[in-house]
Amino acid sequence: MRLHDGFEVYWRSPGASQVGLDPRCSVLLEELSDGEQRVLEALGREIDRAALLTLANAHSVRTVDVDAMLERLRTAGVLREDDEQSAGSGADPDARYWRAAEVAGIEGPGPRVDRVVQVCGVDQLGLRVAGILAQAGVGSVLLQDRSRVRPEDVGAGMFRPGDVGVNRAEVGRSVLRAADPKVRVSVPPGTRPDLVVVVEHGVVDPVPLRALMREDVAHLPVLVRELDVVVGPLVRPGLGVCLRCVDLYRCEADPRWPAVATQVAARPPAGVETSLGWSGAAVAAGQVLAVLDGRPAAVEGAGVELTAWDPVPVVRTWQVHPECGCSPAALSAPSGGSTRPARGSTRPTGSARGGHR
Ligand SMILES: [Zn+2]
Repeated sequence: MRLHDGFEVYWRSPGASQVGLDPRCSVLLEELSDGEQRVLEALGREIDRAALLTLANAHSVRTVDVDAMLERLRTAGVLREDDEQSAGSGADPDARYWRAAEVAGIEGPGPRVDRVVQVCGVDQLGLRVAGILAQAGVGSVLLQDRSRVRPEDVGAGMFRPGDVGVNRAEVGRSVLRAADPKVRVSVPPGTRPDLVVVVEHGVVDPVPLRALMREDVAHLPVLVRELDVVVGPLVRPGLGVCLRCVDLYRCEADPRWPAVATQVAARPPAGVETSLGWSGAAVAAGQVLAVLDGRPAAVEGAGVELTAWDPVPVVRTWQVHPECGCSPAALSAPSGGSTRPARGSTRPTGSARGGHR
């Protein structure tokens, strides 16, 4: 047995030691004898019960007191028993992190190996999202993009200068496989992704989204705009806001938006500012993992808007648009305190979480 990976023992004072540092996941043990502090320290490395009791005996610590200490650590969730596998052989930062989070009361991820996520739009940001998901253990990461690698796609660890002109998805798959040979980049025909990430520039193309709505596939837009990257809102078809709802609100705010949007869609993408390319990808991938793992996601009914100058994103919440018809259940159901905007409203509802505009 030993303490879980990532948990260390720290001596505080005669009689007091702590396991872990963060108050949310650490355990403070007080009124210990000097011998008990030594026994506790021994649990920082692998030791079997017999050796632990021998050590305890040498320091005049009774077996009953050793067992009480072990029970305390076990209850706190920081003790790894003999029959428990060390997650990731002690070197997996993700496993360590989630073990600590579980001790802090946050539910950790289940196995992600059977999960399937598709990324549509494999520019630098899209490929980073895919790379993060693969490294975080998502078993199948599918890439879809018919376009070719552009010079602005080239970046650290992603597309290389020699890839320019080659199909983005094809290069992206080899980048993913090189980083993690275990990740699957194709699945049997007919396999439904758990989630589709749609990376777009300027405006979101509504055509492929219709198929996702029809086939009831959850999707998360990541939209690169002139000044920000917007992650969300997450669309669960039939269960809440969709991207047509968002577009309808935009049209209410600017009746000429459809004319402008058509032109935006026809212009080539302009790439993404360097730090936004990373922060947008990290937020998007983190939200995908939250959805897959069943944790609360900030993008449920909301878009997370990131700029390159403000580290605190704006979270803009959206409701189903009365004219959309995408989600009759959401429209007729009591909305549990949050209200959809009145007909004719030109604004998305508040921006309560995440600070300022
Ligand atoms: Zn809708």
